[in-house]
Amino acid sequence: MSVIDEVKQKTDIVEVISQYATLKKSGRNLSALCPFHSEKNPSFYVYPERQSWHCFGACNTGGDVFSFIMKKENIDFGEALRILAQRAGVEIPSRSAPDTGKEEREKLFRINEAAAVYYSNLLVNSPGAENARNYLKERGLTPETLSEFRLGYGLDSWEALKEYMLENGLTEDELVEAGLLVKSEDGRTHDRFRNRLIFSISDSRGRITGFGARVLDDSLPKYVNSPQSPVFDKSGTLYGINLASQAIRQQDQAVMVEGYMDVISAHQNGIKNVVASMGTAVTERQVSDLKKMTRNIILALDADTAGEEAMLRCVDYENSLDIELKVVVLPEGLDPDNVIKEDTAKWQKFLDEALPVVDYIFSVVTATLDLTKSSDKQLAVERLGPVILAKQNPVIRAHYMQKLANHIGVDERTIEATLGRMRTAPKLRERKTESLTRAVQPLLSRPVEEQFLALLLQHPELKKVEADISPEYFENSENREIFIAWQQAEDVESLKESLDSALLEHLENILGKNVLATEINERYNRYVLRLKEDHLRGLARKGEVERNATELPGEQDIQVSDSLRAVFNEKARRGAGKGDKNDLGKL
Ligand SMILES: [Zn+2]
Repeated sequence: MSVIDEVKQKTDIVEVISQYATLKKSGRNLSALCPFHSEKNPSFYVYPERQSWHCFGACNTGGDVFSFIMKKENIDFGEALRILAQRAGVEIPSRSAPDTGKEEREKLFRINEAAAVYYSNLLVNSPGAENARNYLKERGLTPETLSEFRLGYGLDSWEALKEYMLENGLTEDELVEAGLLVKSEDGRTHDRFRNRLIFSISDSRGRITGFGARVLDDSLPKYVNSPQSPVFDKSGTLYGINLASQAIRQQDQAVMVEGYMDVISAHQNGIKNVVASMGTAVTERQVSDLKKMTRNIILALDADTAGEEAMLRCVDYENSLDIELKVVVLPEGLDPDNVIKEDTAKWQKFLDEALPVVDYIFSVVTATLDLTKSSDKQLAVERLGPVILAKQNPVIRAHYMQKLANHIGVDERTIEATLGRMRTAPKLRERKTESLTRAVQPLLSRPVEEQFLALLLQHPELKKVEADISPEYFENSENREIFIAWQQAEDVESLKESLDSALLEHLENILGKNVLATEINERYNRYVLRLKEDHLRGLARKGEVERNATELPGEQDIQVSDSLRAVFNEKARRGAGKGDKNDLGKL
């Protein structure tokens, strides 16, 4: 069984979503006020039998547990998988754990160093890097900063770096291993970082572990990183750590931001205790690496990244690593880069106002509740109680118990009695894991989704066929992700490059499926209709549930039945009607 399937099987969507929304019974299903948009009447539904969710309100979207976490935490599929795997107690095998010997690592550092010299030379001197130089000048970066951070530029060429490195005695295999070249199935190789501004990423000793690169125009994907290698691991990387460690030790404080540019601009303005996480969620490894320099860590995040789930993980880090984590969320439209450029005193003021992570969770949770209502008081105890109980230090625990009592206007003894009934647990995540492993879910796979993707991927010419097909038709997130990535990919090779590594196994399975080579266009059209019909039928079923609950025919029901009628007409026109819904052989 694949890791994705194992996580699915050990995850109950109801338990996951009930952390973000107050679910109420609604027939066989559950409803809630939508956690993604604000509303007065519930239009958000969870379907335990299908392990899916749908918002019939402003969002008008739905999916499985992965797409829920991706949307809620604003993260990609791989991160969502890692979060859910951790909850479910499923270990994700680390891909490619080749020789991590010292010699091997040193060789990779040397190759990366040579590439960094090559890229930064291009940024300074190449006519092709003119737009990059202009961009950096507009962002106010000085030549000293560019060289301190070893910024570079990759030419708009498939082989420029390759040729240069081969001339300097390196082999293609070595360059592929360092992640600088991409090898396609036919064995040919090309440069990974093309037409991009390049950020060199170093370890704390200044050795270059990998690169991050972004485009300066609209082309896709916007960001490309080095792949995992014996020296590069995204989840253990802190951008800027080599330049920040001294200041972090001196000031006994580290500030973690989200973007490369935020770090660079902070340093240029004399604020040197700043590093960036690589991507979205803060990881345990990053925090434990910082702990070697300071116990005081401030996270300066977007509201999107500072979701409740991510912050609960931070409480776990705080407890298990014995550190102090504070959180500051900048007002919408502001990022560290523009705050610092405008006024470093203003930046300092934000940091001074950072909240301890537990207080931050208090504010996030209570903001969604009406604490004059008794039911919401109970919810506050249920959601904040475990956070308080997880604190080891009795003084700190008492402090937050008092705070909760004041917040909801209920005396501490009553709260303690309520919490006594809930189990105490040292680790928030472990508690959930225990209760989750008991709820083993049946696997709900949809062969039609995978058959369709197999046809699509094995016949790239179908990309040009116009069809009314939406990612929403895919209920399984892994299929939806592959479909979305395929729309932006040039070929299977670039698809593999752009996909999260967690999805590669699933992709290989799809590519390995037997697909009939006849009537390709015809079968393609029938699949599209079939997916659309299933999707609409699902919506109609879900809509009926909703109508029974509210006794009002929703506007969407009418739209759904109109669209379904159109599908039936289309099927009749193609002579594929007569209820052959399960006749996969015909497809
Ligand atoms: Zn919604």
